[in-house]
Amino acid sequence: MSPLWTRRQVLTQLGIAAAAVHTLDPHELCCAVPAHAATADKDLFELKKVGDGVYAAVAATRYKVNCNAAVILTDDGVIVVDSHSKPSAARALYTEIQAITKKPVRKVINTHFHWDHWQGNGAYAALSPGVEIVATERTRENLTRPDAGVGGIPYIEKQIAALPGEIQKLKDDIAKATDADMKARLESNLQQAEAFLQELQQMKPVLPTRTVSTTVTLREQGREIQLHVLGRAHTDGDLFIYLPKEKVVATGDALIDWMPFLNDGFPEDWVQTLTNLEKLDFNQVIPGHGDVRPKAHLTFFRGYLVDLIGAVKKASADGATLDEMKKTIGDQLAPKYESGMSKYPLGQYRDRVGLNVEMVYQKVVKKG
Ligand SMILES: [Zn+2]
Ligand SMILES: [Zn+2]
Repeated sequence: MSPLWTRRQVLTQLGIAAAAVHTLDPHELCCAVPAHAATADKDLFELKKVGDGVYAAVAATRYKVNCNAAVILTDDGVIVVDSHSKPSAARALYTEIQAITKKPVRKVINTHFHWDHWQGNGAYAALSPGVEIVATERTRENLTRPDAGVGGIPYIEKQIAALPGEIQKLKDDIAKATDADMKARLESNLQQAEAFLQELQQMKPVLPTRTVSTTVTLREQGREIQLHVLGRAHTDGDLFIYLPKEKVVATGDALIDWMPFLNDGFPEDWVQTLTNLEKLDFNQVIPGHGDVRPKAHLTFFRGYLVDLIGAVKKASADGATLDEMKKTIGDQLAPKYESGMSKYPLGQYRDRVGLNVEMVYQKVVKKG
């Protein structure tokens, strides 16, 4: 498929009529910031050095979330892991990278198919002709499947269909707002939502040009980079990027610094996949969202998944209804996890635990 094709041409090629792409239901909303939240008014990334020539690009909170990136310098160019939710965000990071090196971006790696990790691919394709875009084979498939979840080409259409309603709601909230600070935050978020819609409408999706289906080692001009396929977790195509010398791993959303998003995930596999990841020798994690974390964060995050699955199974065996479970399990796990999972405006414990319970109930108990 040509990287220059428009979104609609790609959809047509895939046999997906845009009109047939249904609009979003609330369960499909990933990573939504409350309308009144304070968000950065620019696409900002803080580049944090985590090794010699290796940086975490930690994303500022935006109304439409951006993921973090890992930035890896090699002797002849740059490798960037994940490309955010839109080309302008990728261009903003590219400008920051240019302050470190004038070498071109040679490779972009997409950790998984979610919208906030690949929609900026086109910016790199335009800035660095010949750039190689790498993902797992399954992620490449998911990017074109109509039913894959919160990402891929069909999901761009869903976002375009959903955004006018969201924009109208922000306008209504602004009209009702009496507090000046609240109004200013809503107005910033409205402006971000409108700009995002415009960018989506003009977006030319660029898919991975190279896929991997098992773990491979890239020897990249003086640097060893391992791409690990460790099993299903946050999605069925997660890729982990491991630098053995620097002892750094970039995990996408399989390990993040806020509450996990389980809708496209595989809860029990996820636990095992993190255990597989734990066997690698690393000290620092560049997570898909939140700040750089030590390896010990894996234990905390996996512990939440294990306890969540255990609690849902037990409550279900005891005859609890889903509504009862959402309430009781949220309270039950809070002492151990609420503060550690609520460090940022997005993905906080109380915002996600109910949906997490529901997803585990559907994916583990009902299908088990
Ligand atoms: Zn994400
Ligand atoms: Zn994700």
